Amino acid sequence: MRAARHLPCAHASGAAAPPPAGAGQRARRRPRCAPNAFVAAAAAAAAAPWPSQQPQPRLVYVLDEAPGHAKDAHPEGPQRVRAIAAALAAAGLEAHGAAPLGAAAAAAWRGAAAREALQRVHPPQYLERLESICRGLEAPTLVDESTYIAPGSFLAGLEAMAAVLACLDAVMGGPDRAGDESGGGQSSGGGGQSSSDGQRSGAPNAGSEGGRRGCAGFCVVRPPGHHVTPSRPMGFGLLNLVAAAAATAKARPGVARVMVLDFDVHHGNGSEAAFEADASVLYLSLHQQGLWPYTGKAAFVGIGEGAGATINVPLPGGAGDAAARLAWGAVVAPAARRFKPDVLIVSAGYDAHWRDPLAALQLCSSSFHWMGAGARALADELCGGRVLLVLEGGYHLESLGESVAETLRGVLGLPPATPPPEELAAARLLQPEPMARAQRAVEDAVRRHRLG
Ligand SMILES: [Zn+2]
Repeated sequence: MRAARHLPCAHASGAAAPPPAGAGQRARRRPRCAPNAFVAAAAAAAAAPWPSQQPQPRLVYVLDEAPGHAKDAHPEGPQRVRAIAAALAAAGLEAHGAAPLGAAAAAAWRGAAAREALQRVHPPQYLERLESICRGLEAPTLVDESTYIAPGSFLAGLEAMAAVLACLDAVMGGPDRAGDESGGGQSSGGGGQSSSDGQRSGAPNAGSEGGRRGCAGFCVVRPPGHHVTPSRPMGFGLLNLVAAAAATAKARPGVARVMVLDFDVHHGNGSEAAFEADASVLYLSLHQQGLWPYTGKAAFVGIGEGAGATINVPLPGGAGDAAARLAWGAVVAPAARRFKPDVLIVSAGYDAHWRDPLAALQLCSSSFHWMGAGARALADELCGGRVLLVLEGGYHLESLGESVAETLRGVLGLPPATPPPEELAAARLLQPEPMARAQRAVEDAVRRHRLG
């Protein structure tokens, strides 16, 4: 069955696991253990002097294993967060301006507040149904071919939402002060409206919410939620945390536009659905063409008032660092500059890594370094440095940890600690990218959205 071939957890549901696209080729060209200079390089970088110790963290991060949401042998489990935690510990980023989010920070968002944020995207009935199912469960069970729900899933989801919202507060420079500010207004009261083609009219926003400047944020939470539509669990996920965070950010005074950048290898159909008619949220996805969930075609640009505020860039299988750089330079950066977001939220998925078993793109760990740096640079240029990254996919544990650490190094302005793609190609670990096809895909997006 074609659908089952690309479902990430066919093996988790007990079905025979078909080889992922390109797996045969990779088995021949890869050694059992790819060289990994990451730990040593990261340790060396951590020992290097940092020019100025900042009194405030330059980046806050949160690690939430969500142990209540787990199912034996499923590739989406707490082991993913543990792998990232180990890589971050080895990287020693606290010495360079990164700080874990304080345990008390999420307290204000726990329970009802997290639920209220989720209801900005999911109908109350959907949340009630999830909660009710969890109460009645004694063991994890599948809700579709790839997505499971466990007795602790709903509570774990609320906790993850609270962590993301607390990180958002840090990114925005503090909690929402709507209650103690006069004339703050709501989402439409910021710096102008977005037109139907994603272009912005009116006076540009000052680049900071009420003059406040935050720091970057990275949420290592799970399960991934960008496939979850407002009323349907999907693609390992039950709740769309990024969509809820975007909607919550948009409700803050002075925030008119939110950009959601999604670089997971799969198209974020759920996030797209949440904002497809909303011109104030730009959803931009880089993903592998023709991969599950088979959405994300370039021709879909949004509907109604949101037409033009959805930008899909489906890249051909085999595309890697060069194709991603091309897409970033020709589509991501110009679209962001035209839209002028008040905050940038990134659906940070790592299954486009060349070692990931679920897809066939060829990004390297170092690719995520320049993407982290690039996201930070766009946020610095456009919205006072406000960038919030939230973990989505990524299922090769070593690569996942390595790549998240690289992202954070990029955000912090540290040099990469893993080999560049040229080195991996010279070692015959990467195959040549289909650049002609990648260029056509990028040019298609440029033409459709008049970004040239
Ligand atoms: Zn994915």
